[in-house]
Amino acid sequence: MKKVIFVLIDSLMPHVLESQKERLKGLRFLMDHGTYHSNMVTVFPTMTASVDSSLMTGVYPDTHKVPGLIWWNPHTGRIVNYVNGGLSVWKSGLRDSFRNVFFNMNEVHLSRNVTTIFEELEARGKTSASINFILHRGKKRHPVQIPWYLRWMMGISKNDTVPGPDWLTLGRMVRPHFLRSPKASGPLQGFGINDDFAADAVKQMVHEGMQPDLTMVYLPDNDHHVHKTNPDHGGDPLLQADQKICSMLDAFPSWEEAIEKNIWVIGSDHGQTAIPKDPEYNIDLDDLLQSFCILPVGKTAKGHHEVAIANNERMTYIYPLKPGVKRALLPRLVERNGIDFVAWKEGPSVHVESNDRKGRLSFTKDGPYTDEYGRSWSVEGNLEILDLSSGDDQRILARDYPDALSRLYGALFSQEIDSIVITAEPRYEFSSKYYPTHLGGGSHGSLHRYDSTIPLIVAGTNRPIPQPPRLVDLKDYFIRLLTEEESLLAAHQDVPVLQR
Ligand SMILES: [Zn+2]
Repeated sequence: MKKVIFVLIDSLMPHVLESQKERLKGLRFLMDHGTYHSNMVTVFPTMTASVDSSLMTGVYPDTHKVPGLIWWNPHTGRIVNYVNGGLSVWKSGLRDSFRNVFFNMNEVHLSRNVTTIFEELEARGKTSASINFILHRGKKRHPVQIPWYLRWMMGISKNDTVPGPDWLTLGRMVRPHFLRSPKASGPLQGFGINDDFAADAVKQMVHEGMQPDLTMVYLPDNDHHVHKTNPDHGGDPLLQADQKICSMLDAFPSWEEAIEKNIWVIGSDHGQTAIPKDPEYNIDLDDLLQSFCILPVGKTAKGHHEVAIANNERMTYIYPLKPGVKRALLPRLVERNGIDFVAWKEGPSVHVESNDRKGRLSFTKDGPYTDEYGRSWSVEGNLEILDLSSGDDQRILARDYPDALSRLYGALFSQEIDSIVITAEPRYEFSSKYYPTHLGGGSHGSLHRYDSTIPLIVAGTNRPIPQPPRLVDLKDYFIRLLTEEESLLAAHQDVPVLQR
């Protein structure tokens, strides 16, 4: 049976891939020898932490319970920051941020009621590797090998371990024994959380005869470049990611042999939206909500705090911390120029309002309407608020906000507590004290198709992916690729059935 290699290029967008295709040797080879989908839909918020959690578990955030890259944790009273922006991490506390991303995300925040692809493959007797993904929970324990000063800063003892699949790398900080001289792994290179390290780890794994059945590889560098430049340009950053694809293909005697022996799947986590240079395209939330007592970054919520802001770039969770605050917040948010829509939950229902589209849209799970993915809903009010349409057949079609209902529901119900979701219109992003902004560059996080539509390349198999493609369906697809010739039904009996 063929092995599977999945490579996630952060912020890879279909239109950039298509326009650059002729320059991209490795990606073009896989596209020409496989199938290409330009319309895969990711989850919401379109941020790495929530997306990776859905990729690995096959469910939306309401089930896996990782709300986003930034969120407020009612159990600690503090904002969780899985490392976004140097200043925000510094202000949040280095130890707090690193412990959240290193330990808590996998072991505390990710629901125990879901299984990761690594856990499921192990239950089926298959081996797997996670190369630099932040979500990597598996049944094996791996020692943390970090310099003494980081150990001291993060409060890590020599015996601390993290869970993972058979092979796990988190740069040089966690790595298998056969990775002898890790490339590009100094402090200035993120200790190996970069494309060079990841591609080199895959090559070494193949050369050492250590390639497992499934290898999941994360290439982060494209995201950094797209944030700084216009997302429509692509260009050199994508060429660099392509070179890494080439070097992974080169690990085999020939590229033809690489796709004979392996199924290659190339995907992305989210897109990005161009933000103009003018500061008016930053929606200043500290200013907008200045009449409320806002929980400062790095502090623990106390009785006098009224609002917590969790800034996910083009999406933000606003948490009302006191009774009555939500009612005062909603009109303030709906009326602000640049905010695309405001959504909140009430019992089992989600309500959505927008400044420029009148009325309200309300929906709940189950009902007479069906979306493109076969989920059923009750829907009331102005469908145009989420650019949805429906004919006599009560089939809901999405345009600017793909898979809108499941994805918005997934974010709002990722926590039991009350929260308000706001997203920015195209060209806008949110700014709040100490969090990074991207005037003149690119930003993401929203429900809009610019941030939400991602490409998928599959080479080395004819097995079709469910249509229309969704990121949440990749986990089951990989399991089928690796097990279908064996008895899938028998294996299923040992593993809890996932709820969608
Ligand atoms: Zn990003």
